[in-house]
Amino acid sequence: MSGRGDASPYPLGLRLHGRRVVVVGGGAVATRRVPALLDAGADVLVVAPELTPALRAHADAGRLRWAERRFAPTDLDGAWLVQVAVDDPGAAVAVSAAAAERRIFCVRADDRAAATAWTPAVTRQGPVTVAVLGGGDPRRAMTVRDAVRDLLAGRPGLVSAPPAVRESPADTAGGRVALVGAGPGDPELITVKGWRLLTRADVVVADRLVPGLLLDELRADVELVDAAKIPYGPARTQEEINRILVDRARAGRFVVRLKGGDPYVFGRGGEELLACAAAGVPVTVVPGVTSAVAAPAAAGIPVTHRAVAHEFTVVSGHVAPDSPASLVRWDALAALRGTLVVLMGLKNLAAIAATLVAHGRSAETPAAVVQEGTTGGQRMLRSTLGTVAAEVAAAGLRPPATVVIGDVVDALRA
Ligand code: SAH
Repeated sequence: MSGRGDASPYPLGLRLHGRRVVVVGGGAVATRRVPALLDAGADVLVVAPELTPALRAHADAGRLRWAERRFAPTDLDGAWLVQVAVDDPGAAVAVSAAAAERRIFCVRADDRAAATAWTPAVTRQGPVTVAVLGGGDPRRAMTVRDAVRDLLAGRPGLVSAPPAVRESPADTAGGRVALVGAGPGDPELITVKGWRLLTRADVVVADRLVPGLLLDELRADVELVDAAKIPYGPARTQEEINRILVDRARAGRFVVRLKGGDPYVFGRGGEELLACAAAGVPVTVVPGVTSAVAAPAAAGIPVTHRAVAHEFTVVSGHVAPDSPASLVRWDALAALRGTLVVLMGLKNLAAIAATLVAHGRSAETPAAVVQEGTTGGQRMLRSTLGTVAAEVAAAGLRPPATVVIGDVVDALRA
């Protein structure tokens, strides 16, 4: 299994669609590796006694299979590739040996010299993928990758120019926090500024809804904190997140708090800003493309349209309309004729629709639900206010999903 350690690697583009890839380990490294495998359409099996919340969310959504236990050599039967992402060197050696026996290429996060395959630094621009191997030096690979990325973006110097011209030091110098909107799901929908700050981060605190491929391009030495807040699952409280932001910034590090969509749209960004401000930590806010607008757009629905709707209202549906905790005047919303966009509304959709109809909005009003908008997993259902809840249940649509109610749903249909 040895060979000349310094021989050049042979580059390949693996076409993994439908092919089994085994990831051994369920921690931070696996969390960063899995999104690119899913993006490639691989049939991913994760073998690990425990998963990070982000990986668990993939498992719960059926995007990968999880064997909840330690590795057994037979896990590799039928696999085309294995990624070892465990801390325990003994376990890593056992996986390597089982892979070599079966002639399966084995990527090892813990030991490049012992691996039979290396993962390159990658950047993607539409259909083009650039993969860079740095001759055993991951930092060199990332520097070259960053330069190529800027060239492809057609903006040399804008995204990662030499530090001297890149930005004022105050922008990313240690001891700061940036609240960055990551956009709705497509990794290309982060803003240029958000991306630039992300590439400079020492610490990234990421939400569950943040596109995994954005994390795939981070430097290997970046501390990645998974702030995933899974309903009814393992959760870190908001106070804990605030504490991490403040602690890391006080230790002189540049912290990017990466949040799905826009940081202030039902994102608790304001609370994080206040916590940093109270601790004397400087904060920058970088707005993001919100799913409230982008998910409908990706499904062919404009939130306004000439002669159809001159307003759109974005409302959270996470509190039931009849709950005393509700801050939403559903009766008033029912009287509007414009577009209503409901986020976090699947669970209460039946009650929301019934309440709107009870207060006078027609049951025939067009309604649509867009699940995982702007991503490869996007699904969409068109219906009417009267039947949408039943149809969503029948179709098995799941969060994250955006509900759009109003005539705009049909505005662009031929
Ligand atoms: N700050 C985010 C919203 C956070 S609330 C933003 O600006 O987009 C989370 C809700 O956003 C989800 O329950 C869902 O209603 C919606 N959402 C997030 N990503 C989505 C996507 N890709 N497609 C459809 N809806 C999405």
